[in-house]
Order: sequence, then C-alpha cells, then structure tokens
Amino acid sequence: MALREYRCAKCGATFERLIRSTDEERRVTCPECGERRVRRLISRFTAAGASRGQAAADGCGCGGSCACGRR
Ligand SMILES: [Zn+2]
Repeated sequence: MALREYRCAKCGATFERLIRSTDEERRVTCPECGERRVRRLISRFTAAGASRGQAAADGCGCGGSCACGRR
C-alpha cells in the first residue's frame, strides 16, 4: 500500500491516490476530467525511503572496526 502522486496528461491536475494493488494502480484516472493517461510523480514518501535505503547501503558507519563486515 502506497500513497502515490499523479499528474493528468490532459488537464495537468495533480492528485494523490492510495494504491493498494497493481490492479488499482492501472485504473487510476484524473479526478478533474476523468483522463486515464496520468503520469506518476516521484512522491515525497518515495524520496524519503530512497534516502533511508542509501544510508543503510553505506553501512553502519563504523569504518571497518566492528563486526559488520564493512572494509
Ligand atoms: Zn485531468
């Protein structure tokens, strides 16, 4: 389940939708004009998750002095 942000290809309206399945994502339409061609925007939630993931990939920050396996 994810809150995603979209922009309508027709009228340019932006809106958020709570997506619970890929099937639901395929049925997203513009609330303003009903257009089905909507573009998914990079949400703030996705950006926050990406930065957290990057921090984890950098390791524990010990510089190789503990048992985390980082050299
Ligand atoms: Zn629209």
